[in-house]
Amino acid sequence: MKEIILAKYGEIALKGDNRNSFEDMLVKNIKRRLKKIGRFEYSRRQSTIYIEPLEDVDIDTAVKCLKSVFGIGAIQRCAVFEKNFDTVAQNAGEYLRPALSSAKTFKVEAKRSDKSFPLKSPDIQQKLGDVVLDNFPHLGVDVHNPEVTVRLEIRDNGAYLSAERIIGAGGLPVGSSGKALLMLSGGIDSPVAGYMMAKRGLVVDCIHYVSPPYTSDRARMKVEALCEKMTEFCGNTIFYCVPFTEIQEAIRDNCPEEYFTVIMRRLMVKIANKICDRYGYGGIITGESLAQVASQTLQALKCTNAAAEYPVFRPVIGMDKIEITEIARKIDTYETSILPYEDCCTVFSPKHPKTRPSLEEILKAESSFDFDKMVDEAIEKTEVKRFRYGEKTVFID
Ligand code: ATP
Ligand code: MG
Repeated sequence: MKEIILAKYGEIALKGDNRNSFEDMLVKNIKRRLKKIGRFEYSRRQSTIYIEPLEDVDIDTAVKCLKSVFGIGAIQRCAVFEKNFDTVAQNAGEYLRPALSSAKTFKVEAKRSDKSFPLKSPDIQQKLGDVVLDNFPHLGVDVHNPEVTVRLEIRDNGAYLSAERIIGAGGLPVGSSGKALLMLSGGIDSPVAGYMMAKRGLVVDCIHYVSPPYTSDRARMKVEALCEKMTEFCGNTIFYCVPFTEIQEAIRDNCPEEYFTVIMRRLMVKIANKICDRYGYGGIITGESLAQVASQTLQALKCTNAAAEYPVFRPVIGMDKIEITEIARKIDTYETSILPYEDCCTVFSPKHPKTRPSLEEILKAESSFDFDKMVDEAIEKTEVKRFRYGEKTVFID
């Protein structure tokens, strides 16, 4: 029996004239994901990508990989038959056995997009329901809350029978919205922010600021490990590691303590601006959440924004820590994020940060020192590393 995977569109199905480019991007991303698993043929029709194995492949693994590809609304593995109800009926028992033998209830859903098929959808449902009950007499029908939904779709090029539909990652294909730079710390919030913006179709590359010797190699490794984990959803990613010690020391030595954190954040953003200019990123992403800490109040965010020359995306701004943590667990970054290595944000952090700084105060506090040269030097000394989907290179405990 021939089994194939259908990847059904999520939001792409709502696109108009430019839909083709989204589809192209999605197919490209899927091909990259499945390359290591085997050879497949890809075609697309009716808001669906047909993924047909050309050799003996592990379909379970393929389905698992597809679950983290943005742009897919649902994944369905199906047996394909000629469009003849008797053929489907003859094979249904065997194909559905793994899904139905230990289930208690089921229902059948039929869809007939090929209107020349002689049976209408309600008739297909009725007849296929009978076939299922003949094969699995222990089952009960439950149309509201079935354990298994058996689906038969009569499409242009065949009859597709399935008992498994998995919700996809949703969103838009990575790359379809351009690329942005994620300010990635070692905390819980910023990897979640990156995940959320990749879901909106952005390629997400990461920038991280380190302050040795105040921050350790382990702290940096932890962030690299997060970067590596993010490739699961974001695909290949570039990691920019910026030396930040001198800038932080200059802030410490030249600016009033209560403004340290906001000034530091503004300098991080100024460096990010220049990396965006140089490499063509169209936006900056952060893991800031309103009022979580002193540097994330409305007034502090105004000061940070004033340093930005690109749109700043803060997808977790309206979420509380519990909600953010839930996503971090789902994307498997949480356990790495809570490893106890220091971030440069905590270096020289003031005892009493000003929670409502005005931009005028901040600009005045910064004016006692010319940071521009240091910003340029930090960029010149930035290390660049690439992380590829599916490759494990960072080991940390
Ligand atoms: P997170 O959990 O993401 O670390 P947080 O709640 O600890 O966030 P802050 O430490 O105030 O918050 O950082 C706010 C945001 O600033 C982070 O989400 C991240 O986007 C950015 N950021 C902080 N430290 C760094 C760093 N060392 N390198 C890059 N970005 C950073
Ligand atoms: Mg942090």
